[in-house]
Amino acid sequence: MKEQELAITLSTTKKEKPQADQLQFGKNFTDHMFIMDYMQGKGWHDPRIVPYQPLTLEPSAMIFHYGQSVFEGLKAYLTEEEEVLLFRPEKNFERLNRSNERLCIPEIDVEFALKALKELIRVDRDWIPREEGTSLYIRPFIIATEPYLGVSPADRYKFIIIMSPVGSYYKEGIKPVKIAVETDFARTVRGGTGEAKTGGNYAASLKAQEISEKSGYSQVLWLDGVEKKYIEEVGSMNVFFKINGEVVTPALNGSILQGITRASIIELLQYWNVPVTERRISMQEVYDAYKAGQLEEAFGTGTAAVISPIGEFYWKEEKMVINNGETGELSQKLYDTLTGIQNGKIADPLNWIT
Ligand code: PMP
Repeated sequence: MKEQELAITLSTTKKEKPQADQLQFGKNFTDHMFIMDYMQGKGWHDPRIVPYQPLTLEPSAMIFHYGQSVFEGLKAYLTEEEEVLLFRPEKNFERLNRSNERLCIPEIDVEFALKALKELIRVDRDWIPREEGTSLYIRPFIIATEPYLGVSPADRYKFIIIMSPVGSYYKEGIKPVKIAVETDFARTVRGGTGEAKTGGNYAASLKAQEISEKSGYSQVLWLDGVEKKYIEEVGSMNVFFKINGEVVTPALNGSILQGITRASIIELLQYWNVPVTERRISMQEVYDAYKAGQLEEAFGTGTAAVISPIGEFYWKEEKMVINNGETGELSQKLYDTLTGIQNGKIADPLNWIT
């Protein structure tokens, strides 16, 4: 795609910003948004920053019917020196393109998307909250807009970026959660869309989540959709275990989302010379390690919480309490290091910050 002019129309009115202690995830949006259109034959065109506003789409727009859409999630942080930091943002746009490929959506230009995002953040810079643990959540997404009821890839799309100030995920320090192992529903299957960040995966996960919440669990541990034996993810996070001194995480297999936090944790552990392995891991193996007193820690990883320690698993009518239900040493160290790098409070040894 050739270099394009980014047109900017500033909002004439400014919305009132929520208080830092009232920020709820994804409820408030900044004054502006980025938008760009695609049409077959013309390619991606007309990139612009405009006031945040509703979209006008035909009821026949394909997104409403067959779910051809992809999205991303990342955060911008404001340092004490008033610098704006992004954590590996090119990885998000690269992953967006991998999702695009899976959903038959045309690729975007990663460099241009990054440039447009930086410009959008510059325009709405005063929306980045400055209190400890807060950030600006960034949601890029693409939807099929062609008005057509046939099942086929659309010939028209919109690529949009909206932004939302978010509070600290942990109001009272990082806290372990209870997880129910899901033995009935599947999030995805081999050959499905699990590796893509597409709306349908999240719609498919709601039912199991609702049931587990009713039983007092905050998320589910997803097993593979075929044999229901091998561990894949936890809620909408990747999952790690520390077993007898070794850190293990399920190997990428096509149905696991390639988390950027996951990749960063593997790189950080390697940098620290902590043994870390990506391999297939069954629930039975985790259970056996637990029974042998070797399951030292378990945690989920993702942009929202960064590290979410797991204090308990419920599997086959048995509760497995990990590390007395408390945050493990490694989970805490990874959390402190990653969040420290992200908000600029500690050095960035692996050059992750933009
Ligand atoms: N798995 C799923 C299903 C997710 O939605 C996310 C959040 N993007 C993750 C894992 C974690 O990915 P990341 O570390 O890139 O946020």
